Amino acid sequence: MGKMYTQLKKQDPQVYHALLEETQRQAWTLELIASENYTSEAVLEAQGSVLTNKYAEGYPGKRYYGGCAFVDQVETLAMERAKALFGAEHANVQPHSGTQANITVYLALLNAGDTVLGLNLAHGGHLSHGHPLNFSGKFFKIVPMNVHRDTETLNYEEAESLVDQHKPRLILVGASNYSRIFDWERFRKMADSVGAYLVADIAHYAGLIAAGLYPSSVPWADCSTSTTHKTLRGPRGGLILSRTAHAAAVDKTNFPGNQGGPLMHVIAGKAVCFGEALKPSFKKYQAQVLSNSRHLAKALQDRGFRIVSGGTDCHLFSVDLRSKNLTGKEAEETLDKAGITVNKNAIPYDPQKPFIASGIRIGTPAVTTRGMKEREMEMIAEYITEALVHKSEDRFLKGMTSKVKGLCKKFPIYPNHLK
Ligand SMILES: *Cc1c(COP(=O)(O)O)cnc(C)c1O
Repeated sequence: MGKMYTQLKKQDPQVYHALLEETQRQAWTLELIASENYTSEAVLEAQGSVLTNKYAEGYPGKRYYGGCAFVDQVETLAMERAKALFGAEHANVQPHSGTQANITVYLALLNAGDTVLGLNLAHGGHLSHGHPLNFSGKFFKIVPMNVHRDTETLNYEEAESLVDQHKPRLILVGASNYSRIFDWERFRKMADSVGAYLVADIAHYAGLIAAGLYPSSVPWADCSTSTTHKTLRGPRGGLILSRTAHAAAVDKTNFPGNQGGPLMHVIAGKAVCFGEALKPSFKKYQAQVLSNSRHLAKALQDRGFRIVSGGTDCHLFSVDLRSKNLTGKEAEETLDKAGITVNKNAIPYDPQKPFIASGIRIGTPAVTTRGMKEREMEMIAEYITEALVHKSEDRFLKGMTSKVKGLCKKFPIYPNHLK
């Protein structure tokens, strides 16, 4: 691996070595964390560029610094491509993260103390949808909506009566761990019935939505927030799509409201990512992500695992491990020893504490980027099953890492980084 990072190697061996080890870890393990992916080399180049040196407070054509001609080009490209990709009226590409995008939208549309209806965190919601330690839980009155106990799908009737009862100012719909389709139109009707805003957090589904494989929130929601690093496969960052009516409020609230200078190198990475997502090959990729997810869920069901809600309509799903006498924590640790990375996750109405959890969340965006297909999903289901059966046999698990490596070797990600 002598060819990459020659300066870093000379100047800072400690950081260099950690970076090498991480490169190896990514190369030789199966990444099933649903929120992770591998960007293209072009995105890495844009992010590792001199654009990191540039201050550009403001927006293209209206900056508070000189020398912005070229970063203006980059940000304009990112905005135009994002709008084209999602059919949005306005795009703000500056949020540093998905959480930051949500902060901007809350602050643009609400006053402190306003009521927000959002998906229960224990049923798949995100920290920024009202966790008591998150700004959202501290500054707003959160009313959680839930999934049905039996079907584990969203309880729309309950949500409708909560809207009626609490008259929220904003309904926030989105999830980190919900494998089914959201009925955006039904939420729009709920919002309209009480004059509330509808905000969709599509951090997880954005890539599928861009490819037309998951219903788009954009025609229905006042604003749609997203990350750019999950299914969209871009750099780590946030994105806000909004209606023209909210464009000025969103922009002003993002800067100067809650951010300073935008990360222009990351925005360049976003521009490249949106450009990639506009190509036909991206649609093919997302179709494979979806097929792989369904296939892997089915292959695990065939091996006796219970899948939350019985299946999936997207890139992820949760496995309920209770019938296998395993906790999510144990499963995560066991699979880690076998070279398979997942995260433990609460299942709806989980009897365990979140740090232990009864489930694991599995996603296929990363392994699909490597080029894996249905056949490999079958192999992965078998590896997961074997590893969990042999959970207390460290030697067996160590042996599994070579099988995993063998599979990874056939589907390289960044071959140049290993030279
Ligand atoms: C991942 C995620 C976010 C936040 O993304 P960060 O970039 O980690 O802040 C927000 N909302 C949902 C639903 C997510 O899944």
